[in-house]
Amino acid sequence: MAVTDHVNLEQFMEGVKKRNPGQPEFVQAVHEVAQDIFEFMEDKVEYHEAQILRRIAEPDRIVSFRVCWEDDNHNIRVQRGWRVQNNNAIGPYKGGIRFHPSVTESVLKFLAFEQTFKNSLTGLPMGGGKGGANFNPKGKSDAEVMRFCQSFMTELYRHIGPDTDVPAGDIGVGGREIGYMFGQYKRITNRWEGVLTGKGQEYGGSQMRPEATGYGAVYFLQNMLKHQGKDVEGHTAVISGSGNVATHAAEKITQLGGKVLTLSDSGGFIHDPDGIDQEKIDWVKHLKTVKRGRISEYVDEFKSATFHEGRPWNIAADLALPCATQNELNEDEAKALVSNGCKGVSEGANMPTTLEGVKVFHDAKILYGPGKAANAGGVAVSGLEMSQNSERISWNHERLGEMLTDLMSGIHEKCTEYGEQDGGYVDYVKGANIAGFKKVADAMLAFGVV
Ligand code: NDP
Repeated sequence: MAVTDHVNLEQFMEGVKKRNPGQPEFVQAVHEVAQDIFEFMEDKVEYHEAQILRRIAEPDRIVSFRVCWEDDNHNIRVQRGWRVQNNNAIGPYKGGIRFHPSVTESVLKFLAFEQTFKNSLTGLPMGGGKGGANFNPKGKSDAEVMRFCQSFMTELYRHIGPDTDVPAGDIGVGGREIGYMFGQYKRITNRWEGVLTGKGQEYGGSQMRPEATGYGAVYFLQNMLKHQGKDVEGHTAVISGSGNVATHAAEKITQLGGKVLTLSDSGGFIHDPDGIDQEKIDWVKHLKTVKRGRISEYVDEFKSATFHEGRPWNIAADLALPCATQNELNEDEAKALVSNGCKGVSEGANMPTTLEGVKVFHDAKILYGPGKAANAGGVAVSGLEMSQNSERISWNHERLGEMLTDLMSGIHEKCTEYGEQDGGYVDYVKGANIAGFKKVADAMLAFGVV
């Protein structure tokens, strides 16, 4: 008899909790996937016998290291850095680097686990990983950020490579940080190779990469709406965050004829009933990436808007796109969205909705696109950046735009294949989990016990 034949979901989760003490985000992410996979695996003895789910929920390896750097006042500072290499069954590890004070091993493990399924869903050959440090770039000078990035890469470079592990940006890691890290990698190794994605256009970056996650989340929403004979045009949207993903999601909603009402940061949110049009979005991009200011400054510039503490989910809108961080939309906020008439939620961020919040969306049977499907456009274009770097070529914006829309439609199709329920309702979480899992699981079966 197979070892796991008699293990049910609760027992499996008990084991996960026991093996990962003090790691609630990781346990939450595994639970969300395991509930769908257990149902799917019910009659599939081979997955049980090979302990596939248990193996995917145990990272291949975690590297943790000290990062020392000197601030502008000549104080020596010490941070902790990590790289979690979750699974490379279908390709080199791939996933972003996050610099934020909230970064812990649990957060990076959850992100690397989710990334494994997301990358599989894109159809491209990429495994799952994630990395970062508990470093806060906010308020630091460019020179301080550079010294930190160089110190971080001085250890990380040993564990990555274009065929091994290809990191990218995430919260707190944008073009500036990628540039400093790539420069240091090149200096240490004396190799120019596609070891990071999200690079500048001048040194091997892909067109369309900055826009890809936000645009992709809107394309996914568009696909979900189309499946019900609806469209983005004429609809209002609430968006959280004001970083890379949020501003590009806002841009695409606006281009498709929707009206964006909110943006936020960790200080609060702005509500602009007149709509946040392209000119205002450009102003926010400049505020966040050049001035490195706070979203509250928006109301000094645009008098139609008001600033509020907290999160934007009590503002009535047809669509919602959480694009800031994990667990930023809870059960009560999900209920508020539904009772205010929200028809669709597409997650630009990773795991922004709590498990209880997700249940509210499912019970109300509104469209709900989980991050691992909806925000996969970013990593998909990163995959295309890897291909361009390997071939020493670059594709143009138009071609990459078409590839992104096709990739997002393909992901939507895979989700409906495994997620469509009686009566036509699509459980996109289930669809994404099963489709993402199956490809990785089948590859692992082929390798035997490794
Ligand atoms: P950025 O650093 O560009 O922006 C992050 C935004 O979220 C900022 O507005 C930030 O506000 C806000 N934020 C961060 N932490 C918190 C918090 N604890 N509470 C409230 N607001 C917060 O990051 P990205 O736009 O790149 O990433 C946003 C999300 O999208 C993340 O979940 C990331 O993992 C996910 N994602 C990103 C991809 C990408 O291509 N960039 C790909 C796939 C997913 P503040 O300035 O105050 O910190």
